[in-house]
Amino acid sequence: MTYRELLDISLENRKNSYAPYSKVHVSASLLTEDGEIFNGVNVENSSYGATICAERSAIVSAVSQGYTKFKAIAISSNLEETISPCGICRQFILEFGSDIDVILGDENEEKVYKINELIPNGFLL
Ligand SMILES: [Zn+2]
Repeated sequence: MTYRELLDISLENRKNSYAPYSKVHVSASLLTEDGEIFNGVNVENSSYGATICAERSAIVSAVSQGYTKFKAIAISSNLEETISPCGICRQFILEFGSDIDVILGDENEEKVYKINELIPNGFLL
């Protein structure tokens, strides 16, 4: 599984996003160290604060199935500009390892960051 392939899975899964309010369809594909893939999408709610982001959706799905060791997460959206995880999701990814790769991009290009680059001095107990 290359990171390009992981990002392509994320792009394909954008169709499952539930975003009737913002119309911003976000998708995250999480690669475990075992090679399993868990997809997540943003799921909006009319009570906006109840909305969950794609990144946390993917991680919650994986943890629910017993997976907590992650290699990478690819994130995409239907916006023209590259989307980047929000602060809460950066913290949420960091919980599972400071060296997780975060792949951002679209059909044409991808950039890879370490999560600890995206949330320097993150909160860890
Ligand atoms: Zn988020």
